[in-house]
Amino acid sequence: MRIELLPSSIPSSDAQFLVSFIVNDTVAIDAGAIGFLADLERQRAIRHVFITHEHLDHIASLAILLENVYEPGPDCIELLAAPEVLEFLHSDVFNGRVWPDFFELSSPENAFLKTTVLEPMVPVVRGGLTVTPVPVSHGVETLGLVVDDGRAAVGFPSDTGPTEHLWRHLNAMPHLKAVFLEASFPSSLSDLATLTGHLCTRTFPIEAAKLPAEVRKIIVHRKVRYAAEIAREIAALGLDNVELVRPGYGYEF
Ligand SMILES: [Zn+2]
Ligand SMILES: [Zn+2]
Repeated sequence: MRIELLPSSIPSSDAQFLVSFIVNDTVAIDAGAIGFLADLERQRAIRHVFITHEHLDHIASLAILLENVYEPGPDCIELLAAPEVLEFLHSDVFNGRVWPDFFELSSPENAFLKTTVLEPMVPVVRGGLTVTPVPVSHGVETLGLVVDDGRAAVGFPSDTGPTEHLWRHLNAMPHLKAVFLEASFPSSLSDLATLTGHLCTRTFPIEAAKLPAEVRKIIVHRKVRYAAEIAREIAALGLDNVELVRPGYGYEF
């Protein structure tokens, strides 16, 4: 499978303001940046958008994406998320004030969006990919996602502090190739990381060690103002199979 983290920052910077992954052109994980893509054809190719949780860096461009790709008719993007997240999107974003109520405006014959409720540990198959939601530990209800095309599996924990359930699930997958694991804060802000349900450079190596040694751990979600500091601290740890993400690069697994 092909995976890209969309760039959403200063060109050439590997730290990101917003979160959106595209998997095999048609599946998106989070909608932080995708509606801001200059390439409208890539936006139109998206059929399924998984939302891991409702934090703004993960949904910032969702309304713009749906607006950009809308065409009269039954064909529309599918949003897949936990029920609380779908309710939040309806009540707090698509509420007729922040944005038109695309939920109410959608009918089967003419739709802006359709929704599917994700249940923890219940896989769904979309675009030839089996996607399994697994709860992580982020303060607000957050579903990490495991994406499996039958030959390779990749973990997307989304935002999380120290957690267990997802690592147990991933350790049982012999064809697990990579995990896009967050490291939001430097060690000097470990208290803030704990309070906000994120990893820092102190907890990152502990979580990474819960995964098989041969699996690539690709670091995402560095807070932009600490990105260089986090990169230095991670490099000093000398961890095997740990690398910084390359936004805009097409990872093949
Ligand atoms: Zn978050
Ligand atoms: Zn985030």
